[in-house]
Amino acid sequence: MVMKVIPLQVRSAARAAAPRFVGGPLADTRGRTMRDLRISVTDRCNFRCTYCMPREVFDAGYKFLPHDAILSFEEIARLARIFVGLGVEKIRLTGGEPLVRRDVDRLISMLQALKVEVTLTTNGSLLAKQAGKLARAGLNRVTVSLDSLDDATFRAMNDADFPVAKVIQGIEAASAAGLAPVKINMVVKRGVNDAGILDMAERWRGSGHIVRFIEFMDVGSTNGWRMDDVVPSAEVVRRISERWKLEPVGANYAGEVAGRWRYVDGGGEIGVISSVTQAFCSTCNRMRLSTEGSLYTCLFAQSGHDLKSLLRGGASDEEIRNEIAAVWQLRDDRYSEIRTSQTSSAKKVEMSYIGG
Ligand code: SAM
Repeated sequence: MVMKVIPLQVRSAARAAAPRFVGGPLADTRGRTMRDLRISVTDRCNFRCTYCMPREVFDAGYKFLPHDAILSFEEIARLARIFVGLGVEKIRLTGGEPLVRRDVDRLISMLQALKVEVTLTTNGSLLAKQAGKLARAGLNRVTVSLDSLDDATFRAMNDADFPVAKVIQGIEAASAAGLAPVKINMVVKRGVNDAGILDMAERWRGSGHIVRFIEFMDVGSTNGWRMDDVVPSAEVVRRISERWKLEPVGANYAGEVAGRWRYVDGGGEIGVISSVTQAFCSTCNRMRLSTEGSLYTCLFAQSGHDLKSLLRGGASDEEIRNEIAAVWQLRDDRYSEIRTSQTSSAKKVEMSYIGG
């Protein structure tokens, strides 16, 4: 995939414009600090979720990144160490589907040595097989995407004819391997799977796992997003609360993406991720590293900052550190706060490439 990446000369000018980083928490132009790093380890996926990698676009002719274009585990680990030196406390591996990349457990053990929390987001299809070795490698937690418990709806949404039962086996294997509580992500699309909100809540109530209902977002440029398809989180909370009363719970930490709600009867908690109706840009602490080594400060970005040519061009850790610091310090995006029907149709980077 050819993405717009800011070339070196422009970036150097940006670096010159950024205040010199002298240590301490790294803040951007809106006072946000960098705490969380998402790393996309592959742009490939074995699902073709209609809202993420529609088959009409990501078909047999689609050009995924060749192997030599993607960062090696050693390159990722080196960058991760530099990020940790800049204040990153949590690393999430994602994609594409991270578990289709061979030996991801080896990368996890390399990242675990940095003494930060290491998590992974997966569609769960390969989790039953891999959960044990991921946990042994030091994975701290896992998030599994599961959009419906109704087999026909799920198979249609993943567009790979993949059954619900196998994802549930993956969740159970992760739990047995010590990765509980598992977070279970359901992207809610009106008229597609919203009829299954209560089933999903009921299935995981009392299990210790946490379902998170995600508003369908206008990421990328291929998923045909329309505001009418979004089910606002407030409606999700209302629909569940009418059945089992919910009450809000405070965030676990500043910048937490999901709003937390708990069942008054002690049945556990759910989360809602409301990027569309209640933007959380003002507390965003996330940096994203794409599969081919470009930095993105926003999920809805139109361009990234190339780090790979620094890495492969012999730059020192300090040069790379200064580059990353400059990108963060100059950050001023707040896409979800200024979203309109015009911005939603702009050419944006695909989520499978940048990492969800
Ligand atoms: N393949 C992995 C998975 O399925 O979890 C990781 C990558 S996937 C892009 C990460 C998350 O982004 C998934 O939970 C997916 O459902 C969510 N996602 C993808 N496109 C989305 C969209 N348009 N709106 C909301 N969430 C989306």
